[in-house]
Amino acid sequence: MRPLHARYPFFAAAREAVESADVAIATLVAEDAPAVERGVERVERALMEGTVEPDPGEAYPRETKTELLSYPISRIIVSLVETPAAVDKYARAEADTSYERMLADFDAGDDDVHGEARASLDDFLREFDLDGAVRAESNRNRNSRRAPDNYWVDVGPYLTYSDTDWGADWRLVNRSLADGAVRVTREELSELLREAVRRRVAEGLPFAVRGSDAGDRLADALKPHVERLRNLLSDRGAVNVVYVDAVDPDHFPPCVEALLARAREGESLPNEAAFALAAFLVGVGLDPDEVGGVVGDETAEALQKRATVLADSSGSQYAPPTCETMQAYDLCVNRDDRCDTIKHPMNYFETATNDADADAADEAAD
Ligand code: SF4
Repeated sequence: MRPLHARYPFFAAAREAVESADVAIATLVAEDAPAVERGVERVERALMEGTVEPDPGEAYPRETKTELLSYPISRIIVSLVETPAAVDKYARAEADTSYERMLADFDAGDDDVHGEARASLDDFLREFDLDGAVRAESNRNRNSRRAPDNYWVDVGPYLTYSDTDWGADWRLVNRSLADGAVRVTREELSELLREAVRRRVAEGLPFAVRGSDAGDRLADALKPHVERLRNLLSDRGAVNVVYVDAVDPDHFPPCVEALLARAREGESLPNEAAFALAAFLVGVGLDPDEVGGVVGDETAEALQKRATVLADSSGSQYAPPTCETMQAYDLCVNRDDRCDTIKHPMNYFETATNDADADAADEAAD
């Protein structure tokens, strides 16, 4: 197992390294090995924060083996979570993390001390069978040792890995075309590779874990982790976005007001609390920028990032936690009379808004 495999565990060579290591995932799970904890963290950070990087707050060294083995474990976990948005969010987070790493790797110099863990652009192109489909444009300055700024990508792979949803710039009519190839910048080539990674990670997910004695035992052993992640997501289907003409924070339920107050005071909210707050604000229809505005400067950036993960354009948002889940996490505070009539903070907001609208209409009629 090489450090490179741990950094890019979706590479074919990494998979082979896991297979040839003769390590039974079931044994790791039964022994609650560090790779299991890291696998759980991998999924949790992917779903909650859009990254699979280890928590920076836990600055302990991670072994190559732990890091690499956590990848197949995280795939099992994400399959067991059985939440509609989970696979998509997980694959995007793996791809986004890999994208950051590849940008750093491609820019690293030859004398880089971490060279063994780094992948080159050629490594990536070979990995995705693109080595014959991508050609570097020579630098104008022939003596320059800098990596080329532009590349030519054959139209087929370009169309396969680009998406017109990324913006008009990606449409073929707006690109330079020559000899069946499209001109892209170095950054754009990396974005195409990020999409290739996302597809590779999503391939085959979710898969059936249960169905055999061994699979059932594995699923049972991972159940506490899976249940916790499910509760965290509190997702029982598509998000229930409440559509109102204008979002009035006066109609937020007391639990959300309390979380807002904590965030505004600069408290770094625990995962469940930050998720509940961001999911609620996205659920009432605020976009990530507006979420930052409601919370205030102190924590705006962190919560905005989280809201961006939750509110992606694919429509695979998470529902905010129910009152029951909020109670389980001690986040149900300052209950009032309306709380006795609803089961979800979104219902609280919806009925409070409707009642206020009705009162305003009555007043106007008087
Ligand atoms: S009952 Fe529901 S809406 Fe009311 S404070 Fe508790 S979690 Fe919030």
